[in-house]
Amino acid sequence: METVIIQSLKKVGDKGPMKICCILCDQYFTPDKKQVKQIRKHPHRIILCPECHERIADRVRKRKRQQPLNRHPEG
Ligand SMILES: [Zn+2]
Repeated sequence: METVIIQSLKKVGDKGPMKICCILCDQYFTPDKKQVKQIRKHPHRIILCPECHERIADRVRKRKRQQPLNRHPEG
C-alpha cells in the first residue's frame, strides 16, 4: 500500500499547482511557468511574490537614478 501513496504524491508534485512562500511577506503564491522552470533549475534561489518583486524593482530603479553611472568603457 505504501507504493500507492508514493505514486499519488508524485502525481500531485508533478501536476498540482506549485506554491511558494515569499520570504518577504510570508504569503503563498503560485509561480508562473517561467518561475517554475527557474525554481526547478535553481531550487535554492530566492523567489519573491509578484508584489514584492515589483516593490524591489521599483526601489532598484530609483537607486540607479540617484547614482550616476561613472563608467569609463575604454579604461
Ligand atoms: Zn512577497
